Amino acid sequence: MLTQAPRGTRDVLPADSYRWQYLESKMRKAASEAGYREMRTPVFEHTELFLRGVGDTTDIVQKEMYTFKDKGDRSITLKPEGTAGAVRALLEHNLYADALPCKCYYLNAPIFRYEAPQSGRLREHHQFGMECFGAKDATVDAELILLAYRLLSELGVGNLSVNINSIGCPNCRPAYHAKLKQYLAGKVDSLCADCRNRFERNPLRVLDCKVPTCQEQVRDAPSILDCLCDECRAHFEKLQQCLTLAGIPYRINSRIVRGLDYYTKTVFELITATPQGNLTVCGGGRYDNLVEELGGDPLPAVGFGMGIERVLMLLDGEGIAIPEPRLYDVFVTYMGDNWQPAFALTQRLRAAGLRADMDHCGRSLKAQFKYANKTGAALTATIGDEEAASGTVKLKNMETREEKTVPADGAAETVRAMLG
Ligand code: ATP
Ligand code: MG
Repeated sequence: MLTQAPRGTRDVLPADSYRWQYLESKMRKAASEAGYREMRTPVFEHTELFLRGVGDTTDIVQKEMYTFKDKGDRSITLKPEGTAGAVRALLEHNLYADALPCKCYYLNAPIFRYEAPQSGRLREHHQFGMECFGAKDATVDAELILLAYRLLSELGVGNLSVNINSIGCPNCRPAYHAKLKQYLAGKVDSLCADCRNRFERNPLRVLDCKVPTCQEQVRDAPSILDCLCDECRAHFEKLQQCLTLAGIPYRINSRIVRGLDYYTKTVFELITATPQGNLTVCGGGRYDNLVEELGGDPLPAVGFGMGIERVLMLLDGEGIAIPEPRLYDVFVTYMGDNWQPAFALTQRLRAAGLRADMDHCGRSLKAQFKYANKTGAALTATIGDEEAASGTVKLKNMETREEKTVPADGAAETVRAMLG
C-alpha cells in the first residue's frame, strides 16, 4: 500500500520525462503560433463551479468527481476538466475587458475523474487544452480543429478522423429534444439505466452512450442537423468551408454530442483507430453560454481538451520514437584523490553550458568509465596524477576513441569541438 500509487494514477519517471517534454514543446509552439498564451489555474476549485459549469446531468458530475470537504467545511473538487476553471479565472480577473479575443491554453493540467481504470482511462490524467473567449466566428472553431489536427499529425498520430457536428443552441435544440424524445419513447425499456435517466433529463446524451445496446437503439435516430436554426446552420456551414479551404479531411458525425452540458453549436472529436478500437484523443466545442451561466456577461467561447497520456499511448502504439536527449556531454573521471580538480572542472563545464557530471560514489576509475558508458556520455574527461600536476585533462570521445589532452581551464571549448 505504502509503495503503491493509487489505482488509475501513473508516475512519470526520470527516464521517461523527456517524452512529456517533447510533447510539451510541440504543444507550446503550436499554441503560440496562433496567439494563445498559457494560463494556469488551481488543481482544485469550489465544487459549485463544476456543478454549474459542467452540468449536473453529466457523467462527470454524477459519477466521476473527486469531491471532499476541506478543514473549513468547504466543498472542494479536484479539476475534472479544464474549461470551468479557465472561465472562472477569466471572470475573476476581468480578462473579458481586455482586447478580445482572449486566447489561452493550458498544458499538463492534471484532470481527476473517478473512472474504472483501463487502457487509456486513468483517474488522474493530463490535458493540453485551448480556449478562445470573445470570438463568435466559426473561423475560430476551425482554427482550433486545424491546430489539433496538425499537431497530432506532425507528432505522427496516424489514422486521424476529424468528426464534427453541431448541437444547435437554446433556440433550436428544444425542438430537437422533443423529436428525439418522441423517437426514443418506445425504446426506453431497452436503454441502459443511465440512458433511462438521460432520456428524462438530457436526451441528447443518449446519442453518445458507449453501451452497445444503446448505440443500437439510436442508430436511426433523427439528426439534429435537420433541426438547426438559420444562425446555427450558417455557423456550421462556415466551419465546413474553413476546413475545406484548409484541405483537411473531416466527417460530419451527428452522434458526436460530447459529455459536457455546456456546448452550443460546434462540437468535435479527433478519433483514431487503434487495434483495441477507436480512441478519442481530442474533444471540444463551442460554449457560447457558459460565461453567462457562471455569472458573467454573455461571451462566446470555444475550446478543446487533448489527453496527453492518450497521445503518448498512440505514439507508442505506432512505434514512433521520440528523440531522447543525451544525459551527459561529458563525464569527468578521476584517479585516486584528485577529486578537487575533478569537481572544479565539472562546475566549469556546466558553467559553459555543457551537460557534465563526475563520480559521487567513490568508484574506481574503471567503474567510473563503465558508468560513463552506461549513461551514454559522449566524452570522458580524465584527471590522473599527471593531469592534476600539470593542470590538464585528457578528453576522450567514447564513440570515435579520439583523445586530446588540453589545459583544464580551456577544456569546455575543446569538448564542444569534439562533440561536433
Ligand atoms: P471519453 O468519452 O473517452 O470518456 P470524454 O468525453 O470524457 O472522453 P473529454 O472530457 O472530452 O473526454 O476529455 C478530453 C480528452 O481527455 C479526451 O479526448 C481524452 O483524450 C482525454 N481523457 C478523458 N478522460 C480520460 C481519462 N480518464 N484518462 C485519460 N485520458 C482521458
Ligand atoms: Mg469520459
